[in-house]
Amino acid sequence: MKEWNNNKICRVATGWPIADFDQLDNKKDFEVVERIVNFNLNAKELAKTMADAGVEVFCYHATSHSGNVWFNSKVAKKFTALGKRDLIQELTDECGKLGIDSTCLMQVVCNQRAHDEHPEWRQINSEGSACNVSPRVCFNNPEYRKVFLTMVEEVASYEIKAILIDEFDFNGRYGNDLMCYCEHCQALFAKNFGGEMPRKEDWNNPQWIKFIRFRFDSLTNFIKDVKNILLQTAPEVMLSIISYSGIWLDWKRLQPVEEFSKYLDFFCLDAEGVLNSPILARFFNAYSREKAEIMGASTSTLGQLLKEPETELKNKCSSICEIMTVLSHNLSWNMDVGYKPLPENQVISKDIFDFYSIGVKEINKRLDWVKGKQESLAQIAIFYSEKSKIFYGKDKISLYCDEFLGYFEVLLNSNNAFDMIGTRHLEDGSLNKYKLLVLPGAACLSKNEVKCLREYVAAGGKIIASYNTSLFDSYGKELKDFALNDVFGCSYKTRIPQNDYLLREKYQQLRNKELEYGFLQHCSFDEEVAGYALPIPLITVKNNNAKPRAKILSSKQGLKTYCPGFVKSVTFSDKESILITENKFGKGNATYIGAKLGALYAEAAPGFVRKLILGEIDNLIAGELDIKVNAPSCIEVSIFKQTEKRIIIHLNNRQTAPDRFDLSCLLAPSMYEVEDMLPVYDIKVELKNISAKDIAKSYIAPEMFDVECKIDSNKKLILDVPKVKYHSMLVIEMK
Ligand SMILES: [Zn+2]
Repeated sequence: MKEWNNNKICRVATGWPIADFDQLDNKKDFEVVERIVNFNLNAKELAKTMADAGVEVFCYHATSHSGNVWFNSKVAKKFTALGKRDLIQELTDECGKLGIDSTCLMQVVCNQRAHDEHPEWRQINSEGSACNVSPRVCFNNPEYRKVFLTMVEEVASYEIKAILIDEFDFNGRYGNDLMCYCEHCQALFAKNFGGEMPRKEDWNNPQWIKFIRFRFDSLTNFIKDVKNILLQTAPEVMLSIISYSGIWLDWKRLQPVEEFSKYLDFFCLDAEGVLNSPILARFFNAYSREKAEIMGASTSTLGQLLKEPETELKNKCSSICEIMTVLSHNLSWNMDVGYKPLPENQVISKDIFDFYSIGVKEINKRLDWVKGKQESLAQIAIFYSEKSKIFYGKDKISLYCDEFLGYFEVLLNSNNAFDMIGTRHLEDGSLNKYKLLVLPGAACLSKNEVKCLREYVAAGGKIIASYNTSLFDSYGKELKDFALNDVFGCSYKTRIPQNDYLLREKYQQLRNKELEYGFLQHCSFDEEVAGYALPIPLITVKNNNAKPRAKILSSKQGLKTYCPGFVKSVTFSDKESILITENKFGKGNATYIGAKLGALYAEAAPGFVRKLILGEIDNLIAGELDIKVNAPSCIEVSIFKQTEKRIIIHLNNRQTAPDRFDLSCLLAPSMYEVEDMLPVYDIKVELKNISAKDIAKSYIAPEMFDVECKIDSNKKLILDVPKVKYHSMLVIEMK
């Protein structure tokens, strides 16, 4: 049942979000619709075009934003232009003949016909009106919900492999004011939480927290209902979603990933072409029960923003970079081709598929090693705290995200294989495979999360926690001390300054040298060396029984002592406080870092921060990793076990791709096109806990040449990888 999803990596998505006869302002437009339906939606031609390009899974609209459907339905209106045809039946038939599996997209909230014909189904904002930018209907309306669930049942009765939920949120298109205050939402809120739904944002109002929870519960319950319908009527059809779970979204549009992961089989994303992000790859691997898929657009984002009729396709090199990230994380690659106009002489633009085939060729070279659902062998994990993003970051999610992203990027550039994990992994025992868990600013932890972390360290795990980790409860109420104070071996003392902030919003003060709270003096520095000025928020601690690793030395104005960084000429006052500690707790160790170094790295990337964080990692787990790669920082490392006997070490060269990490500051990230990749030479891979005599064969794929194991003077097993262009794999076959 899952074989198709584990092994069919090359996918294409498209849809036909066109209006019907009675929905068009100009009836002449219907001629265009008829031309599309009669010519471009020729199922046989479409299937053949897909097969020729190497497509293995075709993802298309079963329903449409217009509220019309592409199949015979008892509850919804089929496109008039289809006449007696049933497009889903035709496509599943024709694709099936050529070995292509079908998956179907269904939009929940954006439904023009439902919105127009049933005003009582509309989402209603806090001012009492409907959304002014998009036709949004409410899935909490029992009548609409029934119609939608019936459509799910109808679509799942075709020979399809998965349903992908799309357009599913409150405030999805960010119209005016907050959604949804329809009578059904109000009644549900009163029943489950009590009282009135608040209409103005106020994080100090307990009703407001309930309002956020109500939204997440509503979304989750709907997904649960969809999954239940599938389980009852077509259990082999998987459930996926065009996810709004990524780390960039705040509470308004966010789908709660922890809750959704209980009901979805796998996650997918309409990444608008910004898909070569290692962060999304790890995010989806963390939360998908089955192999996840990353969907990117064939075109650049700016072309979509400007609605250019002849949008350029992204270039070959950019696409290869994206695909290599997808492959090196054991994911499937889906390309959304829906942004190019449908031509009049072919069912779909030929240049799209010429371009797509380049990707398919690169995938097929690597197919033997990327097939199957594989297990990550990373021994380091970074913890993503969705609760902290929502309830600590509130409307300013970057207060949490920056701290997270800084640590993420340090790990990414360190040649260490690492996973991202969340709450579910703390609780399901999968934590035990990691030697080190990094918790950047994980402020809002539940009692159970704290308990799991305490047990993990007590049993021998190592953690690095930063800034206000465990200083708040699940819903953002500040505690008097770290819930993990026993594990840290230190207690909260004070905040400098009083409030958290984003460095980028304090640029003028930074320029004026007003953000100076003291100097970091780390135990690895020469005592005589002044250290580094920190322009970021700090928490100092009272040491209970930990080992101090760094202090913050307050500065004293007036004397001329040169220090690098953002700093006045200063010398130190006699005030110093402890900033970094290391504590033995049970069989494990915990390092606590009070300064918001992740945020500093995410916003300014000073080299000393990277060195310091890597130094603290080394201090805890030096020599403990089974596989260690020595390469320039542009080589992203991921390690998977394909079978009991085959380990695959992916070496992914991302050197010329600035969106290796985060380009959220750019208007149109995928406009940046990588033109070429410079190869990286002489990468050394060290193996521990594996003896040369247990290795049957070690080789580089897809280039296919053997690599010999060497034993160095420290008796370490070393494998040399002479060159990596885009992406190569060091494959180790055990006897
Ligand atoms: Zn509603």
